Amino acid sequence: MLSLMSEPRESRRDRAARRAGEFPPAPESLPRAVLDSHTHLDITVSEAGVPGGPADDPVAVAIAVATKVGVDRLVQVGVDVASSRWGADTADRYPAVLATVALHPNEAPRLSDLDEALREIESLAARDRVRGIGETGMDFFRTGDEGRAAQEESFRAHIAIAKRYDKTLVIHDRDAHADVLRILDDEGAPDRVVLHCFSGDADFARECVRRGYLLSFAGTVTFGSATALREAAALTPVDQMLVETDAPYLTPMPYRGRPNASYLIPLTVRALAATTGSDLDELCAAISATGDRVFGPW
Ligand SMILES: [Zn+2]
Ligand SMILES: [Zn+2]
Repeated sequence: MLSLMSEPRESRRDRAARRAGEFPPAPESLPRAVLDSHTHLDITVSEAGVPGGPADDPVAVAIAVATKVGVDRLVQVGVDVASSRWGADTADRYPAVLATVALHPNEAPRLSDLDEALREIESLAARDRVRGIGETGMDFFRTGDEGRAAQEESFRAHIAIAKRYDKTLVIHDRDAHADVLRILDDEGAPDRVVLHCFSGDADFARECVRRGYLLSFAGTVTFGSATALREAAALTPVDQMLVETDAPYLTPMPYRGRPNASYLIPLTVRALAATTGSDLDELCAAISATGDRVFGPW
């Protein structure tokens, strides 16, 4: 459709950089600051490092590089007890960072003592700079039938924690749209629900919008094949829209396959502006305000 979405042939230089795991160059700065609503700084630093090479304080470098192009706040997302604790501590240290804490749906079925891990998550949930419970949810891509009961039990427990502490629920939903809605209806959804890396089509988006949920779009919205996802984005009101990296994964075009980080958010925001027919400046302002409402104040 839009020329922005076409996937040009990769140059020899780009191919070599991708194979070497190099971070892409910084995109043009946004006219207004936005946030990265979902990132994994810990995984990014350990798997890919930071742009510019090794640093004494990689988190500070990641924040500085992102701030330079108009991404001045980020939400660090936990996937297990250790990463959740790291995120909560990191949010205490860096004013640009807020945290969410949870056991990832792929993690929950593997735990020998789910209840004990949930107690740890609950103790972190009480902290001031922990603003969300996530990522939790359902993942039928990586977890087969044998793990689904534990996954659902964990998801239900996370929903209860989000409500007890009035935190935003951050949902990971992979191939499980109907079950995610069923469980939310059954438990009663918290006041603020974010579907991270929204992966549904227009019908599912409409259903989520109607319920007042927030749809967070990742680099996948820039992929050439993601027509249904762009249709979903096009009908999402800007005050229910967020943008994220899910770094180090899901790097937006034209750098798919290379490591992702918050400084690449402008590529996804520009794709969303083109998809929704929004003025870039206004879209940035709306996403920024939504981020503050859902996770803030920083
Ligand atoms: Zn996820
Ligand atoms: Zn994630």
